[in-house]
Amino acid sequence: MSISKSVVQQLLDNCTGWRPQMYFKSSLTALSHAMEDLVLNDFDTPLVIASFQRERFYRQESHRYRRIAQKSSQVYVLAAPETDFSNSSGDYETIAFRPDDALAQEWHLVIVGQHYASCLICRERNVPATENKYVSAMDTNRRFEGIWTFDRSVTMKAGKIMLSRIAVYRPELADKIAQALDLYITDSSITQATVQIESPLANPDPFVQRLVTYLQASQYKLLKANKSLAVKQQKEQLLNSVTDAVRRSLNTKQILQVAVQKLGEGIEVCRCIIYRCHENDEVATIDREFTSPGIKSVKGQKWQLANNPLFEEAIATTETVRVDNTFEDERLTTVAWERGTGEFFQNLIQNYSISSCLLVPIFYQGKLLGVMELHHCASEPIAWKPDDVALVNAIATQVGVALIQAEAYADLEDLNEQLEALDRTRSNLVAIVGHELRTPLSTIQVCLESLASEPDMASELSQIMLDTALKDAERMRNLVQDFLTLSRLEGGGVEWNIETLSISECIDLAISNVKARKLEQSMPQIKNLTSPGDLPLIEIDGEWLVEVLAKLLDNACKFTQADGTIAIAVKADGGKSLEVTVSDTGRGIETGSLETVFDRFYQEEGALRRSAGGTGLGLAICRQVVKNWGGEIWAESPGKDQGSIFHFTIPLKASKHKSPPKNSLSAKYQKSIKRNKK
Ligand code: ADP
Repeated sequence: MSISKSVVQQLLDNCTGWRPQMYFKSSLTALSHAMEDLVLNDFDTPLVIASFQRERFYRQESHRYRRIAQKSSQVYVLAAPETDFSNSSGDYETIAFRPDDALAQEWHLVIVGQHYASCLICRERNVPATENKYVSAMDTNRRFEGIWTFDRSVTMKAGKIMLSRIAVYRPELADKIAQALDLYITDSSITQATVQIESPLANPDPFVQRLVTYLQASQYKLLKANKSLAVKQQKEQLLNSVTDAVRRSLNTKQILQVAVQKLGEGIEVCRCIIYRCHENDEVATIDREFTSPGIKSVKGQKWQLANNPLFEEAIATTETVRVDNTFEDERLTTVAWERGTGEFFQNLIQNYSISSCLLVPIFYQGKLLGVMELHHCASEPIAWKPDDVALVNAIATQVGVALIQAEAYADLEDLNEQLEALDRTRSNLVAIVGHELRTPLSTIQVCLESLASEPDMASELSQIMLDTALKDAERMRNLVQDFLTLSRLEGGGVEWNIETLSISECIDLAISNVKARKLEQSMPQIKNLTSPGDLPLIEIDGEWLVEVLAKLLDNACKFTQADGTIAIAVKADGGKSLEVTVSDTGRGIETGSLETVFDRFYQEEGALRRSAGGTGLGLAICRQVVKNWGGEIWAESPGKDQGSIFHFTIPLKASKHKSPPKNSLSAKYQKSIKRNKK
């Protein structure tokens, strides 16, 4: 059997003007004990009715009730059974009710004696889900509402209600209950009782009231402290989980995604974004984002950073920038319009419903790595709590550390790869150089040995032997010279002599240099398509420029038939640089080799079947020289036998479009031509 009606409700329905009050469980325990002590310490023989929510609560007090039962024959204890609690009549009456009975949610103690009457009639309050985690942490924080009073008439009404409940559960006690009603709760006794009885217990000492207030207040304080502790703990957990997650990865993209996701979820914000940027960036693209359900995505959007007052403030202060109300914040309403970014912010706030935002710069040792933003997207702005700001700052620091670690790891991997490549190159180089030097050396040795062992050799044959030996000796000399030049260039051992020069003049010099070297051979026609007046002067080391041009022309001559054509052209690229092209109508380069031709010792036909001569180092030298002045060099070819075009660029630093100074090409270039001719 179970009754769904609450005793508290029933009593309140019967007592007009009485309002329920809130009590913590700890207060109810103290009050119940105090009331039970009244019975134990007095000579009265009162009616006592106690109702416990569960058998286990009664068990803790059973010894008290055995003592109370020695004082009075009218003692009733109610509880929802858990083990062996049942209806029984012993020292006192026990009444078992079902766990689905309304009594299971309530806490009652009714004491009606001749000298005093007091009751505690409460029911447990349902705690909202949001508070539950704090409250359930402490059983003593459970809350009840109801009436605790020394008012005799109210107590009698409570006693009457309780006795009628007991009569329903234990009908066999009808006579005993009737006796209790007659003795303690008759209408006449109520009338009698309304007359003030001069007993200290009828009028509880104000001290008791103070005690209850104090108990309640300290309980509130405890609850508050508990709540803030729980919030702190929750934040610490969030920080730890973000730190743990971001430190687990060495991939920057993954770090940012994990951070944005964990922070967004943990802090329950509408939108959280992270973007990488540097102090001087004009715009940033949003590529990492968390949004709560129903919030519009900003992924892929471009964020304006130049003249952005929030970004500038974050950089200047290296601290988080708080905007509690985007609609009214001066930085976004006035300053941004003055700086020309007003429209950007207006669109942002309207399109993405941002009413409050936090901008958190991610710094590591003074270097900006990116920015984290939190958006609140509801019509009502919120004021960011200092605790939340501190938490977001701490997370930004952790993200910064994780990013630096990931970058350092990536750099280390790059460095390792470079070192491995360097090691491979070094081994290759030793093998190649050895091979390249041995080949001409063996030819020279064979020729000289033949000449020495056969003094009677025909003069024509001995001449051929001598010529071959000399040619290979020359090849060795060139190889050693090119190799040393390349080593100097790569090792930074070259002193650059920068002068203001005319490019056409350098081209003319390079052409005459090449022609001088190939005096006896028939060679393709070389056209200089530049006209000196059209091009700006350049600031460059002329000797090296002539060297690059000569090497490219030399190659073009080598790989083009005598009836072909070679052309040199120069075009100015928007005042920023000059682009020089050396094109020929020769044998061309396969598409797959356009890049490898710049490798050291690359020769299409292989070193052993070299028909055109050369060291295989010419283009590698050209690339080093061009790289040094900040230019680029590359090759193009429509395919085999369709000619090649070599391009290189010269940045114009302080070049002016004016006539070349007199004697701009000094005597040393003429000397260098002569030297090369030798
Ligand atoms: P080499 O001393 O062998 O000319 P380079 O480094 O100058 O060495 O050139 C490397 C290789 O690139 C050449 O052996 C040749 O196979 C290819 N090459 C260079 N220039 C041209 C060109 N104008 N036409 C076709 N192939 C070329």
